[in-house]
Amino acid sequence: MKRFSIAVDGPAGSGKSTVAKRVAAKLGIIYVDTGAMYRTVALHCTQTGIDLQAEAAVVASLDELNMRIEPNAEGQKIFLNGEDVTAKIRTAEIGKGASTVGAYQKVRERMVELQQDMAKELSVIMDGRDIGTVVLPEAEVKIYLDAGVEERARRRVGELIAKGENPDFEEIRNMIIQRDYNDMNRAHSPLKKAEDAISLDSTSMTIAEVEQAILDIVAERVK
Ligand code: C5P
Repeated sequence: MKRFSIAVDGPAGSGKSTVAKRVAAKLGIIYVDTGAMYRTVALHCTQTGIDLQAEAAVVASLDELNMRIEPNAEGQKIFLNGEDVTAKIRTAEIGKGASTVGAYQKVRERMVELQQDMAKELSVIMDGRDIGTVVLPEAEVKIYLDAGVEERARRRVGELIAKGENPDFEEIRNMIIQRDYNDMNRAHSPLKKAEDAISLDSTSMTIAEVEQAILDIVAERVK
């Protein structure tokens, strides 16, 4: 099989990363979680006292930010200036910050360059918001994964409870709605379905069913 790419886009909590990780393991290809990259930029700014609303300062901070992604059996590890920040970036607050810095064109240009480099030599499944539209427009398979907002909020609440937190359903639901609104309405690379993407609605599908649906599409498109 020759080198190929799978692009998975969709709103927060639609199940992109859970499913993409499983598909990567099944196909023996690399999984790249691009949201983690925007989260790492937000974490770096937060840790160094840079106001996320100050676009020029956020963009300037990229010069002293070294980001390294290490794919592994569980998905990926991400390092910020040598520190493993894989777990640290997974808070709702950093997710919101990622959406703020992800609206800046210069931030996006830098991230897209790194993402395209990763897909150049190896087969990848990459998830995000602009993968099928901007990062990998030539991807052999493009999936737009969605789910109803109530279900997405339920999933996020479940994840937070599993981490020992005590989330408020309404608060999580409102954060998701706000983040989707920001991501879909920003000027640069807004979240939208690529024209040639296949839509999957995971609201009442199990993870295994979504995984199988993607594997079937890959089998059909990648020979
Ligand atoms: O997918 P995840 O929740 O980790 O993404 C965090 C945020 O990063 C998103 O809400 C979005 O604003 C931004 N993002 C993006 N482009 C991507 C991936 C994530 O703008 N390719």
